[in-house]
Amino acid sequence: MNKKYKLKLNCFCESKNSKLLFYYKKKPNKETDFKIKKKEYFRKYKICKICKHVYGEHNINLKNLYNSEYLNSTYNDIEGMKKRFLYVMNLPYKKSDNKQRVKRILNFLKIHSQFKVKNLLDVGAGTGVFAKSFINKKWDVQAIETDKRMVQYLNDLGIKSTYADITKYKNNKKYNLITFNKVLEHVEKPYELLFAIKKFMTKKSILYLEVPDMIAYKKGKQREEFYIDHHHVFSISSASILIEKLGFKIIKIERIIEPSGKYTIYLFASL
Ligand SMILES: [Zn+2]
Repeated sequence: MNKKYKLKLNCFCESKNSKLLFYYKKKPNKETDFKIKKKEYFRKYKICKICKHVYGEHNINLKNLYNSEYLNSTYNDIEGMKKRFLYVMNLPYKKSDNKQRVKRILNFLKIHSQFKVKNLLDVGAGTGVFAKSFINKKWDVQAIETDKRMVQYLNDLGIKSTYADITKYKNNKKYNLITFNKVLEHVEKPYELLFAIKKFMTKKSILYLEVPDMIAYKKGKQREEFYIDHHHVFSISSASILIEKLGFKIIKIERIIEPSGKYTIYLFASL
């Protein structure tokens, strides 16, 4: 553990007017065990009094989480991921966050038919269920991941995947649809990722993103929206501010409760 590490975030609205929302001296009961020593587990969430954005503050270095421990602890490695993939792919529509997400996007595209969609760039493809759903619909799908084993795993599933940090990724291609499903909360500076994808978009491209909704705080601090790997938990205002500051136009933004029980904000935006 790097002693010098200090996570200190500010709100996207640039207000410093915040108050303590939650503090933790041990992990929430169902949070993945990242093998953080008991005496080192101390973290808190602040809430912005202006836009209600919730952001983490702690001394625990999570920088290497996504390279090794995250995969090991969250999915018990590749075999676990494959099982998880099959399980999720086979969930009925009513119980599937993923199937409802795919439907949400297809419905949106049907209504907004000026956006002609042929290809998808999925940033942080995770278990690959989302990307695979679009491959099954004969879309041209490209996934980006920051873990080499994940890239191998995704390629094995037939999902064209690249090992890259999106902020450094170079490619001349333009994408009609770019998606960040539960990705932005995991990074300290989500605006860097969003800024980086603008060069892959045209005026006819759509950005779709999903982030955890801070409204879950009403259900208490054990909620998964507030697990340690979430640096940011968004409000409708803070998500809108972040997106619009970067020059995107929001077409639709909404809060939902997903079949898994997750409180989520999703939005569609264009340049
Ligand atoms: Zn704020």
